[in-house]
Amino acid sequence: MYQKIAIIIFVGLVLSACVGTQSMLTEDQPLKGVNITIDPGHGATEAYDSFRIGPTGEREEWINLRVAKILSRKLTLAGANVLMTRTKDRDVSLGGRAALAKQHGSDLFVSIHHNGSQNDPSIDLPIVYFYGSAILNPASVDFAKILIDSLRAGLIFRQQQDGAVYSDHLIYSSGTSVLRNTIGDMPGVIGEAGFFTNPAGEGRLKSKDYNKLEADIYYQAILEYFNRGTPFATCLLADSLKYIDLSRPIEFELDDGFGNTFFEENSFMIFQDGVQLQSHWDSNSGILTATPDSSTENSVSFQVFARNIQGNAMHPAPFSFFTAAGYEWYSLENWFEAFKEAEVLFNQIHGENIEPSAHLMGQIDSALHLYQLSLELQIVHPRARIAEERILWILQQKQAFSEDDLSEAIEAQKNRIKNYYPE
Ligand SMILES: [Zn+2]
Repeated sequence: MYQKIAIIIFVGLVLSACVGTQSMLTEDQPLKGVNITIDPGHGATEAYDSFRIGPTGEREEWINLRVAKILSRKLTLAGANVLMTRTKDRDVSLGGRAALAKQHGSDLFVSIHHNGSQNDPSIDLPIVYFYGSAILNPASVDFAKILIDSLRAGLIFRQQQDGAVYSDHLIYSSGTSVLRNTIGDMPGVIGEAGFFTNPAGEGRLKSKDYNKLEADIYYQAILEYFNRGTPFATCLLADSLKYIDLSRPIEFELDDGFGNTFFEENSFMIFQDGVQLQSHWDSNSGILTATPDSSTENSVSFQVFARNIQGNAMHPAPFSFFTAAGYEWYSLENWFEAFKEAEVLFNQIHGENIEPSAHLMGQIDSALHLYQLSLELQIVHPRARIAEERILWILQQKQAFSEDDLSEAIEAQKNRIKNYYPE
């Protein structure tokens, strides 16, 4: 216990020394080893988008990029490994942005946007969005709160008091694509620092000095977030295990982000597939234990929650495993049968001189059904993209040979391939 108190005091001293002077921060590279993805929203929409534009013609995507570039330079100087999802006025698919952030092994995802209102030019306030439910996404909310407070304190808005942190489920019922597709790996937010449809707001957002000020606010918020330490859990299962034995307790070793185990009391939780388990925290060993529910079938995932004494929550990235039954099911590739059968049918209908006939239409429908079935059955497999492309081709053939209007399904399938399987 003595030792721990000594360490707390020591950590406290180091922290206050770090946040003491600006020059010291830069010298010390406070973000060394931290991977950050900065995502400037939209890009190259000038030809067709007449919504994301201010009263005198300033476009949201231009403001986003200017702020993101300044921020990226500041973060890099502070030692962070920064990935920008775009550095020019060009379009990057939403799925592609998320895939880049994951490849980068990001510790934080920050999407930079500005807001617009089609019917009320007087609106001007800041909003920061996080994905889904605040309880299940606490690390993103921690950062969002730091950011919104800094934006409100440092920038100018017409409705300064109205700015807030919201779930992105308020925008779309399934949340935003970039946050939904990165949440399994990292905390993230979408920042909307003002309305370009407000005439005074647009005037400010056009100014390079105001862009610098905004970038600096993001930078300070990111520093503050990482200064509090980012706690993490390690699952204590041998890597050589192919599947998990759910009849035994599961153990996680926790780190508060400073190599220690100083967490808020009662902040510990373990969820198994979204259901909370009874858990036990041992502060001496730093190990959090739970007895899993053994009735799960093929696969299982655990999420660990805890908050360090600096106030930062752990990002509950899921730990996923096969059960013994799931491992057998997967390794026997039962699910793959449907795909293989579909491939055989596909090759039969994929010839050069196919003529529409009742028999062919029947084959087309069975192949489509089998591909869809194989996708439903599969866990994660590179062949999934092939199945998706086959489905698109079959839908197009069906459209060509029948009276049915399949244009919506074809469009949806194209978007699915673009968003979920970026090249
Ligand atoms: Zn936007």
